[in-house]
Amino acid sequence: MKTKKKGLNTICTHVGELEDSLFKGAVSPLYMSTSYAFEDVDIKRYPRYFNTPNQMALSQKIAALEHAEEAMIFGSGMAAISTALLAFLQAGDHVVLQRMLYGGTYHLITEQFEKFGIEYTFIDGSDPDSFKKAIRPTTRVVYIETPSNPLLTITDIKAFADIARANNIVSMIDNTFASPVNQNPVDFGIDVVIHSATKYMGGHSDILAGAVACSAVHMERIFNLAKNLGGSLSDYTVWLLERSIKTMGIRVKAQNENAQQMAEWLNRHPHISKVYYPGLKDHPDHDIAAKQMHGFGGMMSFELHEEIDASLFQKSLKLIKSSMSLAGVESTVLSPSQTSHALLSPEEREKQGIRDGLIRFSVGIEEVQDLMDDIEQAILAVRKKGVTAHSH
Ligand SMILES: *Cc1c(COP(=O)(O)O)cnc(C)c1O
Repeated sequence: MKTKKKGLNTICTHVGELEDSLFKGAVSPLYMSTSYAFEDVDIKRYPRYFNTPNQMALSQKIAALEHAEEAMIFGSGMAAISTALLAFLQAGDHVVLQRMLYGGTYHLITEQFEKFGIEYTFIDGSDPDSFKKAIRPTTRVVYIETPSNPLLTITDIKAFADIARANNIVSMIDNTFASPVNQNPVDFGIDVVIHSATKYMGGHSDILAGAVACSAVHMERIFNLAKNLGGSLSDYTVWLLERSIKTMGIRVKAQNENAQQMAEWLNRHPHISKVYYPGLKDHPDHDIAAKQMHGFGGMMSFELHEEIDASLFQKSLKLIKSSMSLAGVESTVLSPSQTSHALLSPEEREKQGIRDGLIRFSVGIEEVQDLMDDIEQAILAVRKKGVTAHSH
C-alpha cells in the first residue's frame, strides 16, 4: 500500500527526524562524530561522504519537501551549484543558462568554465524558443532560475523541462527564491533542484548551507563528484538547519502574505514608480507564476521616483535593514545597482533593467503596518533633505 504523502508543515516538522532512543528527547540528537565504527564493508560513515546520521536525516526532509527521491546538503549554495553543474559537464560539453542568474553562479561560469573546456551560452529572457535555438549536439545541461534576481521575472518551468527531456539534456533549477514552500520543480519534470539553504530554509540569517534534490540516478553522479570536492556541511549546522526548516512552512507563508500586501501598497504609492512582484496582476508573467507556484514568495523589487535618492532612502529606513543577503525573518533591502550589479557598465545595467532607483526588498515576518510606516517615514525624510539641499 502506498503511504499517503504528508502535508507541508508535517514534512517540515517531522520527516527524517532521528529518534532519541536513550532519553526520548523531543528533537533529533546531534551526532558530531567524524569517526564511526564500520557497520559493514559497504557503509563507511564520514561527514565528507554526506552520510552521518544528521546529514541523512535532513536529506530525507529536503527530498520530501522537493518531491524528489533523494537530497544532499552542502556547505553553501555555491558548493551545491558548482558540484551539480560539474557533475554533468566535462571538457567539450555545452551548457545553456539564463543570463539573469545569481551573481555567484554567473561568475562561476564566466571565471572558471573556460579552463575546464566547458562551453556555455547565456540566453536573454525566458523564452523557451531561444533555449531551443541555443541547443547544440554537445549540450548536456540547461539551467534556469525563477523567480529571477532582482527583477522577479518568471520562467515557464515545464516548457524548459519538456524541451530538455526531449533532447536528453539534464535540466537544473535554482529554486532558492521560491523555496520548496512555493515551488516544486520536480512536479514539472525538472531533474535537479538546487537551493541556497542560506536563504529561506535557514531563514534566520545565521546559517550558510546548500542543498540539491533529484532522482537517485542523478544523485549518484553528484555524490561521486561531491565526495572528491569536499563541500559538505558541519553536522552542527546540519542540526541547526533541521531546526530552522521546522518553521519554514509558516515563515514563508507569512512572508508571502506580507509581500503581497506590501506589493499592492507600493504599487499605489505616489513616490514608487514600479513594483516587480509576480503576485501582482499587472506583472507580465503573473499567469505563469500562478500556474507553477503555490505562493508568490517574499521577494520583490521596486523603483523609487527619480527625485528619491536610493542611498539616502536606504539610510533613512529605521526598521528595515540594508543587507546583502535575503530571506530572513527580518525585512531587508539592497540596491542592485550599487551591489550585485555594480560591476556592470551603466549601459549594461540599463539594458538589463537595473535602474539606480531600484530597490530589492526581502519581506520578513514583521507586521506589515510597521513596514509601511518605515518606508513612508524614509521617503518623507529623503524628500525633506532634498528640499533643504535645494534651498542652500
Ligand atoms: C544566495 C544565493 C545563492 C548562493 O548561495 P550561498 O549559500 O551564498 O553560497 C545561489 N542562488 C541564489 C538565488 C541565491 O540567492
